[in-house]
Amino acid sequence: MTSGTGAGTASETGAGTASGTGAGTGAARSGAAWKPESRLAMVRRARRINRELAELYPYAHPELDFRNPFELLVATVLSAQTTDLRVNQTTPALFAAYPTPEDMAAAVPEEMEELIRPTGFFRAKTKSLIGLSVALRDRFGGEVPGRLDDLVTLPGVGRKTANVVLGNAFGVPGITVDTHFGRLVRRWKWTEQEDPEKVEAEIATIFPKSEWTMLSHRVVFHGRRICHARKPACGACPIAPLCPAYGEGETDPEKARKLLKYEMGGRPGQRLSPPADYPGMPAPPLGAD
Ligand code: SF4
Repeated sequence: MTSGTGAGTASETGAGTASGTGAGTGAARSGAAWKPESRLAMVRRARRINRELAELYPYAHPELDFRNPFELLVATVLSAQTTDLRVNQTTPALFAAYPTPEDMAAAVPEEMEELIRPTGFFRAKTKSLIGLSVALRDRFGGEVPGRLDDLVTLPGVGRKTANVVLGNAFGVPGITVDTHFGRLVRRWKWTEQEDPEKVEAEIATIFPKSEWTMLSHRVVFHGRRICHARKPACGACPIAPLCPAYGEGETDPEKARKLLKYEMGGRPGQRLSPPADYPGMPAPPLGAD
């Protein structure tokens, strides 16, 4: 298996990137003027977008704080129906109280519920976390398994959670289809599928495996910072010349810049302990935001 960005694939050597074209300019083929394209043209464009995103977010990473596979698994389960920021603000106290699966398996549910209350759905999440900790203790020797088939047998762990853990704690390539990823790849016409598993399968045919994990992070970064659900900041988006949905959001560059979030908008990120290369500010602890 080659490493790096799709080595050995012809379309990776295609035309230069869209850098320098400027948001809102040079976008003759984007937005309303978008013309139908062949599958090959779409694949080339998709890979160019991936390269653009790699330049834009060289520091893309999972936005959950974790120090080992168990912490990532727990944080990912907690992240359902809430923000990564809220999870990151909650997990320091949780992991101080229950550092291992054995500790969490023996937790008093009411005590754990209080600790994870800020993440919402805290009763159901407590049940899942204790259940998965019992399973890790009893069936996997207290270790998080590194195989999809095993991970999805754990209570509260679906394919999405399993892929997050595999990609980020075990280095197994995976495409993580969350709400941001689904929205953006449909805007970019990489797929028309709505079902996350079908989206995952179609995107997997466009990119080499070695790109899957980082592609997922980059797309989610873009969705959280620039290409928002309701008000995408099209006028401040470097992907605009490659985007069929250009114009769905604010195209005025100045107004669009005000919509940018996290480090792009000069504000704190979601992680309390971001990687060293993160250019933004760390998130504040619970109660300080
Ligand atoms: S913000 Fe989103 S919709 Fe707008 S140009 Fe960028 S990628 Fe396309």
